[in-house]
Formats: sequence, structure tokens, C-alpha cells
Amino acid sequence: MKQLLANLIGTAKVCAYFYHIASKEKPRYLGLVLANILLLSILPILNLLIPKRIIEELTGGQDITLLCLLVGLLVGGIFVLKSLISILQELRETWEDALARRIDLSMSEKAMRLKFECTESEAALSARQKAETGMSWYSGGIKGMSESLVRIGTSFCVIFGVIWIISRISPILLLLSVLAVIVNALCTSKINLAAQEVFEKTPAINKFYSYIYTKINGREYAKELRLYHASPLIEQKAMENAKALNKMDNECARKQFSWGILGSITSAVGYGISYGWLGVLALKGAITVAEFVTCIAAMETLTNGCLIPLITNAQQLMMKANFMSAYIGYMFFPDEAASGKDVPSEESFDGITLEHVSFRYPGTEQWVLRDVNLQIRKGESISLVGLNGSGKSTLIKLICRLYDVTEGAIKLCGKNIQEYSYEEYVKLLSVVFQDFKLFGYTIEENVRLGGVQNETKKVGAQTADLGKVYEMSGIADWVESLEKKGQTLLGKEYDESGVEPSGGQAQKLAIARAIYRNSPVVILDEPTAALDPVAEYEIYNRFHDLIGNKTAIYVSHRLSSCKFCDKIVVLDDHTIKEIGTHDELLARGGLYANLFQTQAKWYVAG
Ligand code: ADP
Repeated sequence: MKQLLANLIGTAKVCAYFYHIASKEKPRYLGLVLANILLLSILPILNLLIPKRIIEELTGGQDITLLCLLVGLLVGGIFVLKSLISILQELRETWEDALARRIDLSMSEKAMRLKFECTESEAALSARQKAETGMSWYSGGIKGMSESLVRIGTSFCVIFGVIWIISRISPILLLLSVLAVIVNALCTSKINLAAQEVFEKTPAINKFYSYIYTKINGREYAKELRLYHASPLIEQKAMENAKALNKMDNECARKQFSWGILGSITSAVGYGISYGWLGVLALKGAITVAEFVTCIAAMETLTNGCLIPLITNAQQLMMKANFMSAYIGYMFFPDEAASGKDVPSEESFDGITLEHVSFRYPGTEQWVLRDVNLQIRKGESISLVGLNGSGKSTLIKLICRLYDVTEGAIKLCGKNIQEYSYEEYVKLLSVVFQDFKLFGYTIEENVRLGGVQNETKKVGAQTADLGKVYEMSGIADWVESLEKKGQTLLGKEYDESGVEPSGGQAQKLAIARAIYRNSPVVILDEPTAALDPVAEYEIYNRFHDLIGNKTAIYVSHRLSSCKFCDKIVVLDDHTIKEIGTHDELLARGGLYANLFQTQAKWYVAG
């Protein structure tokens, strides 16, 4: 009982949440739903009362004019009501389709503004999967919820009318109907429960399914699939997965079948008793033929047309609401660093300071950075070097506020960076990550991305015009050679006319995007890791020339790439081991000198 109450409250909250969204988008939505319920409720009552009068007239007065009038009223009434109902339903469905699209979009929007650490967390990924599943396959989304609510509302209204009709003829029949319905409700609830159990288990399996059917089949894996002949293994895994799903479906169907049969038997017994009882009353002359027929029809309406649909829909609504609550759960995952309202001023920007910064990834015990202290002055170029896994990228993520420090603080103009509005703070940064991504938009859109707010500013000594940026980043000739120039679409994801940039062109495009953004701090986090050391050195050097006197942070695991920097920061064993210029560090003969000489040997040997 406690559980049922909790479910009812939960369902009411979910319905209120979605009706709130719906009313915000379509203010007259609730009115439309209520009108729909009202018309749907009048129809069965009309179908009971007018035929009763017709039978009475047929077995009594037999007034032809009155009979024609009654038939006309019945046929005309049904026609008008059904026409109005279908118009309202059509309109309701159109609005609900638009709402469903809005809700789908809101999930994508949420995914894009989600706090970065959530994008890497299993809980958030699984919540997204559950939300998508909950809003589509199982619940039918807002359309499914609304359909259930309309049916529940209609059932309620009709029940009152029908109870009034039956109780005037044979109150005992009401009792019988209720008994039959209780057994039926039990069966229906068991059937629904079986479906619910399947839903609880499906997100993990669906995630694997979508990995196989969307990701692995996509472009990203095309080369490995062919060269390593990986398809048999994948097919085998897909089969195992399909078998697991089939097994679950079969179990569910078995349970649903048994409870379904019990429900049908109860229903048949209920009908048998009712017919018997009314037959006896009619034979004794206690009720008329018209009352016999009306009572049977009313009972049918009450049980199959009202009470059973009411219980089924109430249960389904609870189930749908439970599925849909996954959407609400997902929408309440934290958004990207929401803290802080201050706006950093580019003019007063004087560098970034790390004070006793320690960090471990959420949910892990291992310190990735420990007591890191570093001052990056305005206009300075800093190189972060260290072996793979020494925490270089993590440090960049902290500076970019993709994660918050666990201990200590990162400061800008004397203030903790968390005090600044996230949106305003990141405007100060142009970053090219190792795993940078280009979007399936035009070259121009890719380069202008995120730089629009800076379009009136200067790039170095030049104005921020795209042609200049293409030239500076070394893609001008390539762009010029393309038929649609900067309007050429990148990639063939959704349009065959798109071009696939080579690895080098893609890197230059990513660098062009960073140059165009024209922020006071630029960061290159090894976008060149796939290149050979000489090419990396050249790109870093060229980039350094391009950005003029901006503050720059270069990341590399190759110590030779950033010799030109004002300050080289060597990360090792979770902290900063050495800081100095290339020459200073070589002269010191410490870790940097050691690593540098070791790496230099490989290059010479190569
Ligand atoms: P680098 O850039 O120097 O190669 P990273 O900063 O990428 O090093 O990684 C430092 C350490 O943090 C590594 O041990 C890595 O496994 C761990 N790490 C990186 N990303 C995550 C993450 N999202 N969750 C947990 N640990 C991570």
C-alpha cells in the first residue's frame, strides 16, 4: 500500500512536470485535453441512454415519429461527437509531436551543457540511455502519457454515468462488476510488472547494441574492422547480446501469458453470473427488456469500457511515468561549471596562477596532481612536458575548468577562476586538444565556431578576416582549390558532397579555429601527437610565431618540441619536478636533461 501511494505520488509529479513543459510550449494544451475527455465521455452515455429509450418505444408505444427522432438523435449525435473527437485528437497529436521533438532536442541540449565530468561518467551515460529509452520505446513519450491520462479522465467521467444507470436497475450487479475488476486488475498489474522488469534491465544491453550498430559500423572503425578481420568477433558478440534480449523477452511473455489467461477466465465467469442474475430478474418481471439490455450494455461499459481501462491505464501511466522520470533524472544532472558571476576583463588579464593545486578524478582515489604551484604570466610561453600519464592534459583540463581542482586554487587577477562566469572565463582561452574534433559543417563554420564573439577584435596585427586566418594556418591553398571554398562541407556524415580533410589539413583547421577565436591565452595540448617529432616541432614553432605575444601553453611528451618556450615545466610523479628555460634545465643536469638526452638519442638513431 505504501509502495502504491509512493508510485501514485511519483506519477502525479511526473505528469505535473510534463504538463508544465507542455503548457509552457502550448498554453492551450490542457484545455484541449479536457475538451477531448469531455467529448469522449459523452459518447458511451449517449450510446446507453438513447438505445434504452428506443427499445422501450419498440416494446411499448411504437410511435414511429418518436422512434425516427430517437434514431436520428443517436446517429446524428454519434456523428457530431466522433467528428469533433477526431478533430481534437488530430490537433492534440500534432501538438504532442511538436512537444516530443522539443523534448528530444532538450536532451541533446542538456548533453551539450552537461558538466564535463558527467560526460565521462558511467552514471550520466546510463541516465541518458535510460532517458532516451524511457521517452520513446516504452512510454511513448508525452504522447503515450497524454493518451493514458485522457483515457483515465474519460473512464472516471463515464463511471459516474454508468453507476447511476446500473444502480437504478440492479445494485447487486455493481458489486459483481467490482469483484471481477479487482481480479482483473491483479492480472493486469502482474502483466505490467513483467514489462517493467524488462525495462530495468534493457539500458545496459541497449548501450552495447547501439555501440555495435551505430558506432562500430561507422567510419571510425572501418579500417580496423577490415584490416583485423574483426567482424566475426563483433557478430558473435551481437548474437550473444541478441540471445540475452530474446531470453528476457521470452520470460516476460511467459509471465504475461499466464496472468492474461487468468484475467480472461475471471471475466468470462463474471459475465456468466451477470447474465444469469439479470435473466432471473427479467423472467420474474422485476425488470423490463429495455432495462435488461441496457444493464448488460452498461455492465460491459463499466467493466470493459471503464474500470478495466481505468486500472490498466492507471498502471500503464505509473509505468510510463517511471520510465519518463529517467528523463527528469537526466535533466537534473549538473550543468557545466555554473558557479561564479564575475566577468574577467581581457584588459586586466595578468596571467594564471596555480596555488597548491591537487587533483584526483571524481570517484577515484589516485592523486593525479599533488601540490602543483605555477605562475603563468601574461605574454609568457610555457611548455608542459613529461612522460605519458604524468598529468599534463589533466592540468589543461583544470585550467579550462572542465574539472574543478580537488584542493588548492587556480587564480586569475587574484580571484579563484570559479568565481568567474564559466561562459565568460572560457572566452579567454583558445584550445586545440589532442583529440580535437571538427564538425560536419562547412570549413568556414568550423573555423568561426566559438570565435564569433571575438570577430571585431584583432588577430595579432591583422584584422580577423577568414582569408588571413586560412593563410596564417597554412590552409589557404587547399581552401582555394575547393569548388565551394570556405563553404565546403567537412566530412560525408550526412552529405556526399562533403570533403574529408587529411590528418594534416584537419590539424591546421583546428589551429585556424584557435587563431580565429583570438583569445588572450592559447593552448596546444598535443594536437600533433600523431606526427613525427620534427613535424611537431615545426608546427609548434610556426604556431608560436603566429600568435605573437599572447600567453601560450604548449603540451608535449616530446621534450624537443618546446625548446623555444620562455619556461619549461617538467611534470613527473604527480607534481612539478623542474622549471626553467631549455638551456637552464640542460645545464642543471636533472630529470629534464636526462629525458632530453634519452629522447634525442632515439631521434638521432631514427
Ligand atoms: P598526460 O596528458 O600527461 O599523458 P593525463 O593527464 O592524460 O596525462 O593523465 C594523467 C593520469 O590521469 C593518468 O594516470 C590517467 O590514467 C588518469 N586519467 C586521465 N583521465 C582520466 C579520467 N577521466 N578518469 C580517471 N582517470 C583519468
